[in-house]
Amino acid sequence: MTPRTALVLVDFDDTLVDTAPRFQRARSALFELLAGAGFAEELSRRVHHDEVDPEMLDLHGLGPFRLEPSFRETYFRLCALHGAEPDPALAEACAALARDVAGPPAPLAGALDALRELAAALPTVLYTQAENAAYQLECVRAVGVLEILPPERVRIPRRKSAEDLRATLAEFGVPRPELACLVGNSIRSDINPALAVGMRAILVEVAEPWEFDRVDPIADGFPRVPSFRHAVDLLLGRPPVGAQDAAPEERAS
Ligand SMILES: [Mg+2]
Repeated sequence: MTPRTALVLVDFDDTLVDTAPRFQRARSALFELLAGAGFAEELSRRVHHDEVDPEMLDLHGLGPFRLEPSFRETYFRLCALHGAEPDPALAEACAALARDVAGPPAPLAGALDALRELAAALPTVLYTQAENAAYQLECVRAVGVLEILPPERVRIPRRKSAEDLRATLAEFGVPRPELACLVGNSIRSDINPALAVGMRAILVEVAEPWEFDRVDPIADGFPRVPSFRHAVDLLLGRPPVGAQDAAPEERAS
């Protein structure tokens, strides 16, 4: 039998709110703009994803703030590869595409209702990483999460890690890691650190994972679900959504 759950940590970006598609749309627009300026899309993608964006992550951390320097630098790097002089107007157009990504993201369908039910049933903490914790907390507030969880139930490390998870479990008085579960969409940032400390984990799968998140899990055996609602049903011991739909008459009797 599964032990009682003493704490559930819930990821924010792309688990409760729609973040990555906005980034992906902005990147697609960047590659399109650069293609119009004569840079092959394949090369733009490689320079951006493999060279520039990892450097900007190190410099600026996660979140929308790195996108503007990252988009501009992708253009400069391509110019350097082609021995071309950068056009300041085009550099500014690249930066403008990145600025469109700022501001609070939209909640995913049903996610906040599911969070409300979860928080009423089990000790729940929002666990989200950001370089700029104040900005992230404003996004969390704008979406309405603070109406469900008080600020002391929101934890925002710069980067999620096994070390930070151990500290989080200690802070919330969880005696053994297997009594806690982390729900998130990222194998790199959510699932692997949780498994590393012996917590349970549930992966909320996204259609198009971000390149940075395409890593292998350090262990198998964790559930994969298509939405946060499904994860909450699993945690609360409810039948999966599909099973309910399949047998309406049985439920009515
Ligand atoms: Mg996430």
